[in-house]
Amino acid sequence: MTSPEKHHTYGVENTIKNESRLMDTINEKGGFQKYLSELNDFKGAFKEKVTTCICCDGRIDAHQDVGEPAVRLPGVFVFEANKSLHAQRLHRAGITKIYSHEDCGAGKAAYLSMHADNPDPSHEELRAFAIEKTKMFCDEYGFEYAGHIENDALNEVHTEQVLYFDATTPGTPSFEQSELKGKIPQGFALSAELSGDWRRDVEALLGIAFSGHGIGVELVKSGKKFTVVVIAETESILESKKKDVDEMLKSSEIIIDVDGTQHTLEDVVVIDGFVRPS
Ligand SMILES: [Zn+2]
Repeated sequence: MTSPEKHHTYGVENTIKNESRLMDTINEKGGFQKYLSELNDFKGAFKEKVTTCICCDGRIDAHQDVGEPAVRLPGVFVFEANKSLHAQRLHRAGITKIYSHEDCGAGKAAYLSMHADNPDPSHEELRAFAIEKTKMFCDEYGFEYAGHIENDALNEVHTEQVLYFDATTPGTPSFEQSELKGKIPQGFALSAELSGDWRRDVEALLGIAFSGHGIGVELVKSGKKFTVVVIAETESILESKKKDVDEMLKSSEIIIDVDGTQHTLEDVVVIDGFVRPS
């Protein structure tokens, strides 16, 4: 009998294998900067006048699911301490519409933080919560609620082995990984300069990568690491942002257990990066 479970495992394993191969190619080239500068469509992966915001979740493909490039911030925004300030940042960057999505990890964390009485919410409860909270933010701060993105039901595993940390100035061309689909690994993506607290967001995303739903632990078991890919406008900004991320990793208290051995984030994450082509 062909069970969905089997398809799922097969699809995920293939994705992991293909993306690991891509990472090996990129590393053999000497990193993202060198690898990307040899691609004809590198510059085209930066999009101007982006008006849409979707979640950092790497399973969401901006072109496929939304039909246009998007900035990336963790779902539902309930962790933003100052929502009005957050809305101002988005408005200034030209964002007009926001999507919620299915199986949102950030949405689930938010739900759990607000519902101590319901530690095991159903799929329907989480879906309703993601839609309600995103709509509420849109209504209150003048954005269009653009709809709920359905994930492929079989794709329950987070196969991301990279995080694209876009540190370019909001409102200027931003990196759209979907433009280079098949040429770079599909990763989490964070529009870091639009975040109210990028350290919190990076920790949350790495937390997913190294949870039971991610492949981080498997990477470490096979002698590899998770890669944070910093994107900046100039060489000197790139160096300074890489240093910031490095300091964040060093100061994080997250501990990753791999077969009984404890690792800090610094042990299991490497930092790479590239400059936006002019
Ligand atoms: Zn999400």
